[in-house]
Amino acid sequence: MKRVDFTNTQVASSETARDINRSVVLNLIRRRQPISRADLARVSGLQRSTVSVITEKLIEEAWVVNGPQGRLPRGRRPTFLRLNDRRAIMVADIRPTQITVAVADVNGRFLSQERMLTPGDPETAVKTLSSRFRRMMQAHPDLIFEGIGISVPGRYDQSTQRVVFAPNLKWSRFDLRTPIERATGIHVEVENAANACVLAEVWFGNSENVRDMVAITVSEGIGAGIFTNGQLSRGSYGMAGEFGHTSFDPEGPTCTCGGRGCWELFASNRAALRYYHESSSTPENGLTFTDLLALAEAKDALALKSLDKMARALGKGMRTIVSTLAPEEIVVVGDLARHWDRIGRVVAEEVAGGMLAGEPPRLRPAAEPGIARLRGAVALVLKRHFGPAERVTEERKSA
Ligand SMILES: [Zn+2]
Repeated sequence: MKRVDFTNTQVASSETARDINRSVVLNLIRRRQPISRADLARVSGLQRSTVSVITEKLIEEAWVVNGPQGRLPRGRRPTFLRLNDRRAIMVADIRPTQITVAVADVNGRFLSQERMLTPGDPETAVKTLSSRFRRMMQAHPDLIFEGIGISVPGRYDQSTQRVVFAPNLKWSRFDLRTPIERATGIHVEVENAANACVLAEVWFGNSENVRDMVAITVSEGIGAGIFTNGQLSRGSYGMAGEFGHTSFDPEGPTCTCGGRGCWELFASNRAALRYYHESSSTPENGLTFTDLLALAEAKDALALKSLDKMARALGKGMRTIVSTLAPEEIVVVGDLARHWDRIGRVVAEEVAGGMLAGEPPRLRPAAEPGIARLRGAVALVLKRHFGPAERVTEERKSA
């Protein structure tokens, strides 16, 4: 029979408490910097002495630095603390046609950014990315690189560390992580693009206290990142969130996934372009979604009609998400955000029309859709060191 060792249990639980407290303090500094030790104690409910021990350790580890000195009407001037912005993260946002690589600091500020064409096979991509990352490290000798975060347009299985489903990328099942880690000597985190976007909102957006949120990425396809009960939901094989490939019209066209009439065939950027070409007399001439948005801004009737049709399909499809997950908030990430005044109204109308009970979720475009995936990739790396920021509030409450 297994003996229960109470001494060990004791050690384990105090270590857990220490980890949680460290996470609480680090995340409070991140959210409220610059912040004094006194305020850290007040806001966290931790003892002043506990806060001192934790912050000294964080300073020693170079995660936190002494910031500016504060001013009080009288008495001693407190020293504020802030994150050390010499701590940096390298990120890549892989899309079907283009890859963006960037260097960001711990606050999600980008220090440099460059673009490249997406190679046709994963082997070339791994080689090219590795050499870019090495060059970026050489270009920033003053920074301490904490990790590499990569956002991919497909589902990533964390248990086998393989991209398992990426119909719009057309690469076979592959391992991005190991070869890049070997080439750079830096820890790599990989995540689905929609999951990265929902993390970006939770970490860097104004949704600090939202516990149920869905991010929907609308581009060549449609992806969803699910944040439920305060945590990212990946599901078995990392496949949770593939609403883009649920049937919208069983009689519809064939999809890249092999299915028929998937939602993304009716509500993605490609769908809007198809609607435009179907009713336009001019031949297909390589019109892009950006062109279509420009036409809509110039009040082109056909472009507006195509976007409305796309928006309607988008809202109708969201009803499935609302009735299965009941999020408080839905964030839409994509170029369509530029035309949100009009598109958002149509989408909201469709969502509201399908409510079973309660108020419809708040619906908004991502604050900075162009960098949401990159920001999410930064959050991926930070999560390892800061602990799950999203759970901290809850743990504090129940502590
Ligand atoms: Zn499909």
